[in-house]
This record gives sequence, C-alpha cells and structure tokens, in this order.
Amino acid sequence: MKIFNNRRTKIHRYVLLATLAIASIITSPRAQQPAGPSEDRVALYQALLDLTNPWTVMCVAAHPDDEDGTSLIVMRRKYGAHTVSLFSTFGEGGQNAIGPELYEEQGAIRARETMAAAEIQGSEPHFLGLKDFGYSKTAAEAFKFWGHEEGLRRMVLEIRKLRPEVIITNHSVTSNDHGQHQATARMVVEAFDAAADPNKFPEQLKDGVTTWQVQRLFVRARGNQASVADAQIVTIDPNERDPVRGMVYAEEALQALQQHATQGPWPKTFAEYANRFRAFSGQQGGAPGQLPMIRYRLEKKATGADALPKQSQNFLDGLRLTEIEANEVAAPTIDGRPLTDFLDQPARIISALEVSWKATQRFLGPSPRAVAQDKYRVSFFIHHTNQALAALHGVKTSLIAPDVLSAGTSANFKLSISNNGPDSISVSKNNLSTSGPNLIGLLCCPALTFDTVIPPGQSVEIPLTYSVPADARTTVPHSAHLYDDRVFGTAVSTSVVATASNWFWIGARKWVDVAPPIEVQKIAPSPLVVTPTTRGNPHNFTIRLVNHQDTRFDGKITSQGLNFPVDLLPHAAKDIEVRLPRSLPPEMSTVEFTVSGSARETVTVPVFFANAVVARGLRVGYIRGFDFSLPNALNALGVESKELSVDDLKTADLSKFTSVIVDNRVYESKPELIAANQKLLDYANGGGTLIVFYHKSDEWNPDTRRNRPQLAPYKLILGNERITDENAPITFIEPQHPLLNLPNKIGPDDFKDWIQERGLYYPREWDPQFHALLQSNDPGEAPLKGGLLVADYGKGHYIYSSMVWYRQLRAGVPGAYRMLANMISYGHAK
Ligand SMILES: [Zn+2]
Repeated sequence: MKIFNNRRTKIHRYVLLATLAIASIITSPRAQQPAGPSEDRVALYQALLDLTNPWTVMCVAAHPDDEDGTSLIVMRRKYGAHTVSLFSTFGEGGQNAIGPELYEEQGAIRARETMAAAEIQGSEPHFLGLKDFGYSKTAAEAFKFWGHEEGLRRMVLEIRKLRPEVIITNHSVTSNDHGQHQATARMVVEAFDAAADPNKFPEQLKDGVTTWQVQRLFVRARGNQASVADAQIVTIDPNERDPVRGMVYAEEALQALQQHATQGPWPKTFAEYANRFRAFSGQQGGAPGQLPMIRYRLEKKATGADALPKQSQNFLDGLRLTEIEANEVAAPTIDGRPLTDFLDQPARIISALEVSWKATQRFLGPSPRAVAQDKYRVSFFIHHTNQALAALHGVKTSLIAPDVLSAGTSANFKLSISNNGPDSISVSKNNLSTSGPNLIGLLCCPALTFDTVIPPGQSVEIPLTYSVPADARTTVPHSAHLYDDRVFGTAVSTSVVATASNWFWIGARKWVDVAPPIEVQKIAPSPLVVTPTTRGNPHNFTIRLVNHQDTRFDGKITSQGLNFPVDLLPHAAKDIEVRLPRSLPPEMSTVEFTVSGSARETVTVPVFFANAVVARGLRVGYIRGFDFSLPNALNALGVESKELSVDDLKTADLSKFTSVIVDNRVYESKPELIAANQKLLDYANGGGTLIVFYHKSDEWNPDTRRNRPQLAPYKLILGNERITDENAPITFIEPQHPLLNLPNKIGPDDFKDWIQERGLYYPREWDPQFHALLQSNDPGEAPLKGGLLVADYGKGHYIYSSMVWYRQLRAGVPGAYRMLANMISYGHAK
C-alpha cells in the first residue's frame, strides 16, 4: 500500500473534452447486468465499517485450511478490522482429494484455493513458503526441514511488514498433533517478541520495515482449557448473523472452507457442518444446528498493553491509539453516530466522507503539509475512504488482460469502468498508470489521452498496450515457483482518478502469468521406469506444447538423434506423441527432449530401472484413484491392464482378470463402489486376487450411519496410526511368505529411497485369517504390523496394504515396483 500523489482535477473542462477524446474508448451500455443494489450496499457497508477500525488481526496457520475462517470473518464483517492470514506452508505434502496433483503441483493449487477462501473471508493470505514435507509427529522434525531460525526469520519479517496488533492461531505449543502445527505454534510465540526486538534480524529493518510489537497473542482453547479460572478468554459466536449479508458468519466460513477442494470433502450445508463439528470437535455444542462457541485464550501480551476486558467477544477490545494517531484516522460520523447507520442517506454519507477525505489530503501530494505519525494506518484509512466513495457512486472497475503474457511480445489490456450510480462521473487521465509489482517493474502505458464522462448506467473500456520486456521472469509452471514468490504469477494493477462531486481513485488488479514463447507444459511419463520386460520396448511420451507467440510455431522436437516435426498456431496448445525406439542404452539415466524453432526449450525426463518381474499371463483390472501411478506402473511392468469404472465393474466378467486392484481411497472417491463391493468379494472367492490400497479409517471402517459395511471379506478395522519416517526400518514377520518371495525376492533394499512416509491409517484390528507380513514403526513408537495383510479367501486371495505405494511408484522407487509385481502375481506365480 502506498500513499498516492495526486492533483485535483478540473471537472468541468473534462466534461467538454469528453466527446472529443474518446476515439480509443468504447462507451457502451454494460453488456452484463449491473450488480444488484444489495451487492453495492454490502460493499458500502464494509468500506464504512472498515473506516472505523484501525487495527489488524493476523491468523497464523501451518497449512491452508488450518486458518480460523470464522473468527477472521467475524473480525472483518462485524468489526471492520483489517485481517490477514499467514501460512507456514502451501500444504503441498498432503493427500489430494480431487485430482492427481501432488507436491509442488498440489501446492500451487492450494495457493489458489487459499486465495479464493481468503476472498470470501475478506482477508489477505500470505505465505512463509516453508516446505510441507508431509505429516510429521514432532516439531523437531519440522524444524529439521525448515530450519528453526529460518522459519522464525520469515515469520518475523511478515509480522514486521503486516503490523498486526493481534495474532490468533488454532495451533498450540502443548498439543501433540501434526509436527508442523507444533512448530508453527512455537514460532508464533517466539516471533511475538522477536519482531519487536531490534537485535533480532536487524538486516530486515530497511525499506520501511521497522520493528513491530504485537499487543496480544491468542491461542484457540480446546476442551476445558477455556474454563481455567485465571484464563482470559475471548469468545466468538459463529452462529451470529451478518447484518448486511443475511447469513450466519460460520456459513460464510463454510463457503470459504469449501474452496479448499483438494482437502475435501466438506459439508455441503450449514446443518451438516454444524453436526459434523459437534461430532468431531469434542466441544460442547449449543443447540442442534448451531456451532459451538469459539474460544481463545490470551496467551501472551506486550508489556504495558491495554487490558483485555473480561468476557470479551472481540480480540481488539480495550486497545487504544495515541491521541495523535487517533486523530489521523478518526472515522467520520453523522451526529456522533457511525456512517453505517445512514446507509439509506447516501448524500449525508458523502458530505461526511468529504470532510475526512479533505483532512487526509494534508498527508498527500508531492509536498505534503504534514507527515503522518502512522503512515501505515493513514494509507489504509485513505484506501477505505476511496472504496467507500467508489461504492457510494456505484463505480466498479476491472482489468481485462490476457491470462498469459509472453516475454518480448506486446499485450493488450483494457481497464473497464462502469457507473452504476445515480450521477455522471468523469474519469481523468491523471494517474493512469499500470504497474506489476515486484516482477515486471513499472509497465507503462502509451501516451494515453482520455478524459471522459460516464453517464449513469454506462461503462467504458480504456485500451492499454504493454510491451513485455524480453527478460521478464517467467511464472510458469506454477509448481516451479512455489518457493520464489511467483506462484500466483504477477499482479498487474492500474488506477485512475474518478470525479463526481469530489474525486477519488479507482483501480483494478489482475494476476497474469509470464510464459516463455514456447512452453513445454507437461511431459508423461516422467520419470520413465523400465523393467527387464519393458527395457527393450519402444517408449512413448506425450509432450504438451503451448505456443504463446503471436506467430505460428514451426519447429521440431529432438531426442535420441531423432526429429519429430511440430507446428502450432499462435496461442495454441497441442499434445505431441513422441515414440523413441527400443535402443535406449541400459545405463541411461535421463532422456532429453529439445524443442526448437523460433524459440527453444529443453526438458529432461529421469529414467529408473526396477528389477521387477511378473508372473506369466497376467491380466489386471483396476479402479483408479486420482492419479495415474497405477496404470503407469503396470505399463512399466509390461502387464496387460484395463481401467474399470464402477459401471464396468457391475457388468464385467471379472474372471477374465487374474487380479483386480482398488486404488487408494476409491471407496471414498467413488462411493458407488460400496454397492458393487460384493461382486469384488465374489471375484476373489472364485479364484481372483483382490488388492486394496490404503483408505482413511473414517472412510473405511464399518459405520451404519455412513452406510459402510465391512468392506474386506474378514474383519479389518483401520486406526489412525501413521509411519511418517520414510526410512523407518522394516522387519519381515513372515520372510518365507510367497507374497514376499514370488516372483521377486523382497529384501531390505526394496525399502530404500522411499519418499515422505511408509504408510497411513494402519489397521488396528484384523481377523486371524490375515497374515501380517511386515512390521515397522516411527522412532520411539510401538511397532505397527498391519502395513501389508494377505488372506486366502475361497479359491482366491485378498490383500490390503496401508503403505503409500502410489507415492513410491510415482517417484520410481524400484522396491515399490517389485512389491507391486508380487501383489498382482500373487496366486499366479510359481
Ligand atoms: Zn494442518
């Protein structure tokens, strides 16, 4: 946020000039329906409320969806506080509930989900960009990856920049949930003091960044913590109704939660949300259909901080500005009452706003008459005044721009301004500038000459041309920019001066990407895994190319001395099949593809060899989860395989398949499979091998309320234990069992070089029919034996494995291929 320089414009002259200077401006009745009055009313109410609150509340969370959306919403919507959320990571280490993306690709998606949630919460998301390496059990493990000092340094910098008076967090230093939660909770406590300490990270104290004393830190109170006698508690009522939006605050919070789609499924209705919360939180609820109160305990306060009144419902209660600061941002009133009381009297609001607006102008311009004591608060105050004026005049802006810019080309933007208010407004060329913060530098506009009047009910589009520098830094693929500030692309923003009875700024912003002229968007498979069966086969790759240029691309893809011609229309994308011959040298560890023509890009695919063989004559059917690790692995093993939908399954003759695999979490992602499960069990009973990969305990365990029968042929109950150490030693309980010996003899080497974790939701109870073959545990914990269970069933076999094979298969871990080969060969290998 910066304080703009500006000069008052001469309204009347522009009215005359308007008709002359709009050759390049399209004035038209708005094609789209204008926003309803209620939306304008909401925007006006919020801007006026924001003007009354000079404080900032920050919610700190380890991962997207850990933020307390309800409290953020209450603080902004009810009290008008500036709200920000700060996330340690992008949540890239979690499981993806809706698609195949994992790791950085998933992080890039979660960054956007968080942005969408924050939009609904009325808050601003910020990220520390620490790596989410997956579930861990201790803060120590998190700090091992993050670096304790580095994590703290980043958090302190954000606090110093965002200057919150209050920090709230769902994470507690004393809980023993996710290690990244514990580490985040610790860093918050440390950063509270460190941000105010000039000796901590002194190199940060430049370019307007100063030390910052947070006044209060609140930690979410769980269970009976809230009832501790000396605790200072703030209670947030999630069931309260938003007076202008006509919704319960927690209902808005649910809409925000639903944006975190990769972490779903979320309740669809408020009632479902309330019930689920009551069932899982263990907190005392209110009436049915209502959420329990949210309670926070004051964990830390600054020396000399204003006292928090008892039984407060507002984290900011009791905080006071100095008299000078309070005067700088004094909210305008009418007859001593807040402007929000006068929504139906816009003329009175405008007059009141004009008075305070004029007062702030002593801080503005090239030679301001006064220097603000608190520039940060004043800049917010000015921003909110502008927003209130824009809302009062029904003025809306948007920046129409291509989603992707290509370095070295020019792009056409349009600034669209619509007037939904009762008065004509004029828009002046003064201050028309377009800037892309951080990344592209100042984009400047051509010599624009426009001054125009927009009558009520009309809109204009102002064309802008931008030449993208040849050395502009690319922002795609987003997954490659998760840790370098470019995961959202680059923001392009613009502002102009609008004048009605008074002048104000209006602006618009859009996130765009910068791409190379020719982009290799995707290549599959990557890595390439070969086995003794497939090493000598031709290898097929699919390469998705996008031409971001204005001209046709004529070129070729080169690999292994072969050329594959490519042509692509301007701004077009194409999947190109490339077939490499059977002569890949056995020692080869990468395959390189070069795209060349008017532009040039090179990509490299790693190659892994897995010494995995399978029984003869296998035919595998599988019900796929969200990713493609299973079909890719079956291809690498050279096995004939077929993907089955649940409908296929109902009608197919399963006896044609030697084994059938139910991929991880499919009973949850395709719940219709539950009704068809008997057919799978009958298939095993008749002689087939049925293999089921991991499920979460709450989506697997028998539960009449969720219509979950026992899905395995014998009792099999999952717990919530995980083995998160990917190097945790493995003990072979039944080393002679055929599943560990045929056709591949499995040994300790097969559990080397694993990624992220061993397994999830380990079975805690199983029928004696099952043989448990492997045992493992995280350091210092009790052994878990249910990672790989196998049982005979009728003439066939049933295998359940809670180990995370899909992550290992994706990464090309040879042992996973050898174990998969044994599973699909089980009952068919000699
Ligand atoms: Zn979390």
